[in-house]
Amino acid sequence: MFSETFRGGIHPNDHKEQTKNVAVKKIKPGEILTYVLSQGGRGCTPLVQKGDRVLKGQMIADSKEFVSAPIHASVSGTVEKIEKVITQKGDMADAIIVRNDFAEESVELHPIRPEGYVTKEELIKEVRRAGIVGMGGAGFPTHVKLATDKKIDTIIVNGSECEPYLTSDYRVLVEKPEAMIDGLDIVIHAYGVKNGIIAIEDNKKDVVPSLTKKLKSSMKIKVLKTKYPQGSEKQLIYAVTGRIVPEGGLPADVGVLVLNVDTMASISRAIRRGLPITRRTVTISGKAVKEPGNYFVRIGMSFEEIFEAAGGFTEKPAKLITGGPMMGGAIYSLKIPFTKTNSGILALTEEELGTKDEVPCIRCGRCVEACPMGLMPVALTKCIREKDWEQAKKSGLMSCIECGCCAYTCPSDRNPVAVIRRGKNAIRSGK
Ligand code: SF4
Ligand code: SF4
Repeated sequence: MFSETFRGGIHPNDHKEQTKNVAVKKIKPGEILTYVLSQGGRGCTPLVQKGDRVLKGQMIADSKEFVSAPIHASVSGTVEKIEKVITQKGDMADAIIVRNDFAEESVELHPIRPEGYVTKEELIKEVRRAGIVGMGGAGFPTHVKLATDKKIDTIIVNGSECEPYLTSDYRVLVEKPEAMIDGLDIVIHAYGVKNGIIAIEDNKKDVVPSLTKKLKSSMKIKVLKTKYPQGSEKQLIYAVTGRIVPEGGLPADVGVLVLNVDTMASISRAIRRGLPITRRTVTISGKAVKEPGNYFVRIGMSFEEIFEAAGGFTEKPAKLITGGPMMGGAIYSLKIPFTKTNSGILALTEEELGTKDEVPCIRCGRCVEACPMGLMPVALTKCIREKDWEQAKKSGLMSCIECGCCAYTCPSDRNPVAVIRRGKNAIRSGK
């Protein structure tokens, strides 16, 4: 019997009212588009050189590595240069810079199956060709997830969108759910499964009546209790099916594939229309944004152009974040380019951040109660500070999903997740 929720978790203010009811608007691309060569999985190598003319939808970078996704031009124009640029992580990475000619000339599209179904092998091939990565923000190449040898019996569409502020998946469910439903239908047939479940939190249940009318008989909607981090795969699978993904395991180990709403819609567009990822829906929000909403943004635009299109700022943002405020990353420049993995861009004010200085731990245990992975954040941070890596691993350090519930719930404003993240990086890099 499934529980419609999971152990632990928190109920942060969702701040979704700023964008939830605003229809998606298109943002026109500017003169320069910058395509970072690593946008999910391993980095790619350019397939074009300086001076080449490129067309919209043309593959401009790819890799021989399986865990990688090719990159496509989002406009037509000319390759101006290939150089290192500053990325969202604050490091430098190679990028292809294209000058837009505003002709909007596209490559000829060759959809594999405008109607009907594809085999699992065809699906994996087409999803890779289209450069589809997890659109919920994780950015893991989708074809890698699909290429499992495990027996799959359940496909879950992750529509929980549990991060505060983010509403782009919700807008897809309200405005254009057809492509998402078709994507689910394609995946269901490719795996020969009977169960396709669209999982949403009960703060979005207003979409259920209209969505239900469009579903096929193999699909159903599961309404879950609103709680963060409901969208995290392990928590979602438990809430929907009652199955527990083993430590270090993957959803496929318990017969489940989880794909986000926009990822499913992208699969439909790739199979039916031959369309690669050249743009995506993104939530632009936070009180420092003049016109918060959801926008269709071309890959490669600068954050500066995107915020300008959203009316600019009401005041100097105290913090800029890509993704949601719980798991997203801080950014320090508006010159950085937009990538496929950006589900949200936030400009928050000092008032929204409400940051305070941390004070000593009072051993209240709230972080333990909130941890959805059943970990003891205080014990983990102690091991990390003492560099006791063996004990840290035994205590489940590598199982931490970096959800930030421990930091959110702490009355002493401590930030265990930041320490844990550092500890995990230290173990991975063998320090
Ligand atoms: S220890 Fe990790 S999994 Fe547990 S609440 Fe903190 S960030 Fe989340
Ligand atoms: S919630 Fe904060 S104060 Fe309470 S035990 Fe955890 S770290 Fe210490």
